[in-house]
Amino acid sequence: MDNNPNTEHKTEEITTAFECQFCENKFQQFIPWSDKSEYSDATLEVWNKNTAICPHCFSMDRERMYRLYIEEKTDLKKGLNRILHIGLEPSLRNWLKDMSNVEYSGGYVTSESGSRKLDLTNLDYPDETFDVIICSHVLERVPDDEKAMKELHRVLRNDGWAIMQAPIALHANNSNKSTVKIYRRKDFVKKLEKSGFTVVPINLVQTFGDSRLLDIFRYGLSANDILYTVIKNNIANKSGGTKSAPGIYSTAGKPAPGINSTTSEPAKLGFFQKTMLSIRKAWQKLWE
Ligand SMILES: [Zn+2]
Repeated sequence: MDNNPNTEHKTEEITTAFECQFCENKFQQFIPWSDKSEYSDATLEVWNKNTAICPHCFSMDRERMYRLYIEEKTDLKKGLNRILHIGLEPSLRNWLKDMSNVEYSGGYVTSESGSRKLDLTNLDYPDETFDVIICSHVLERVPDDEKAMKELHRVLRNDGWAIMQAPIALHANNSNKSTVKIYRRKDFVKKLEKSGFTVVPINLVQTFGDSRLLDIFRYGLSANDILYTVIKNNIANKSGGTKSAPGIYSTAGKPAPGINSTTSEPAKLGFFQKTMLSIRKAWQKLWE
């Protein structure tokens, strides 16, 4: 037994190291995911088992990842943004709804937890209704997921951006007997690109830098966590398009540029678009 008061002090610092951005509480540990999850057979890409759920507001690791990214790397808080949020994420939902510049629409594939039931393969919205879409852990539950992706593409504004998150297996796993799909990264990205999106996977450490590692850990996230962002305009096709795609990624903590670009000039790649493309290029080898 170590009774050294200095050691105790250090232990105290370490054990209160976790924090949740949604409720702003600090605590000793998160609530872990259950061993009996739907995905217990597979090793998943974003799987922070031991730092999964906030003990105060029950935010999930992925919600904290979305918030970290949205707050620091997008201009969501600027100007009017019409958001479609599909997912069972009350902390994220309440945070988005509280923003005075956000027109929030939400739902899920079932009416679970009082959610509005949405048919993702036949959305009741006109083309280009939303500036931003967050579709989180839903596509794997839709039998015709490609049709759903095309619908999401249709209702997203040209130059709009989205987060498309789904369970990705790091290792091949053919034992999944459940109706809930587990994607391989390559297949998931290909499906999204086939639906018209340009996919930009975001690695938290590459995006925020090593100096933010402690923050990433503090929110119960991991250095290898990947966020799947997409944009509607195919900026990879440099010759096409009449609008420049928005930057949803920026460096040095500066806010990303406005996403309401409506220039009628042929698309010119700005700094942020180039950054987006270089990130995409770095990842491309993983799915081609
Ligand atoms: Zn919390």
